[in-house]
Amino acid sequence: MKSKIFILIGPPGAGKGTQAKNIAVTKDFVLISTGDLLRENVEKKTELGQIAKSYMDKGEFVPIELVAKIIKTNIQQNLNKKGFLFDGFPRDLSQNVLLDEMLNEFNLEVDKVIYIDVKDEAILDRLTNRRVCPKCKKVYHMKYNKPKNDETCDDCGIPLITRDDDKPEVIKNRLATYHKVTHPLVEHFDKLGKVIRVNGEKSPKEVETEILSLI
Ligand code: ADP
Ligand code: AMP
Repeated sequence: MKSKIFILIGPPGAGKGTQAKNIAVTKDFVLISTGDLLRENVEKKTELGQIAKSYMDKGEFVPIELVAKIIKTNIQQNLNKKGFLFDGFPRDLSQNVLLDEMLNEFNLEVDKVIYIDVKDEAILDRLTNRRVCPKCKKVYHMKYNKPKNDETCDDCGIPLITRDDDKPEVIKNRLATYHKVTHPLVEHFDKLGKVIRVNGEKSPKEVETEILSLI
């Protein structure tokens, strides 16, 4: 059977990573989060990671050749799986052309785009209070989604970290880039009748229930 392809789109802090991890487990999809995969390379200090870090710290896009390499490897390793859920890719119209080319090669196509809509006003608070488990990548919020014990992952028991790019000036840059080049993808997929719009300002559980009822 052909793998289904789903894409999560939304501004930084919309809750894509939060939702992606749960949806992938519930639906048994392969999760391809380019941000997580790049951060893994940064942590391991791979050659790719060292180049990527200089872009990520400024909130800029990592060169597409590096991102493409990561994605292609992941698709190839999982071709017999039920579905793929992309988080963080494609990020502009040119990356979408590349995605189309890659999917064509494997005789696959995008099924639906899940657009998580959150207003700009909520983003700064969400991202400055975000904490992440460096091991399992679970995402917390120090007000809305707190770990059980102070700044420690509920599952791994290790200290949570703040992402290097969750600084106010970098967040501003990422949000501006989102509006300029990423959001046009929502309009593109809307014309193809592939967009599922979800109100990302409800609780994480409500957002998850809504997404699961629609895909
Ligand atoms: P993205 O992957 O889109 O950048 P995340 O999933 O990392 O966003 O979420 C950003 C921050 O917002 C995290 O601290 C997360 O715990 C919090 N968050 C996610 N979804 C919600 C929600 N529905 N309501 C409130 N806070 C949320
Ligand atoms: P994210 O985890 O999606 O917020 O991404 C964090 C950072 O990783 C971004 O600000 C970019 O620097 C980089 N990144 C993630 N996905 C891509 C992509 N598709 N293209 C270029 N850079 C990316």
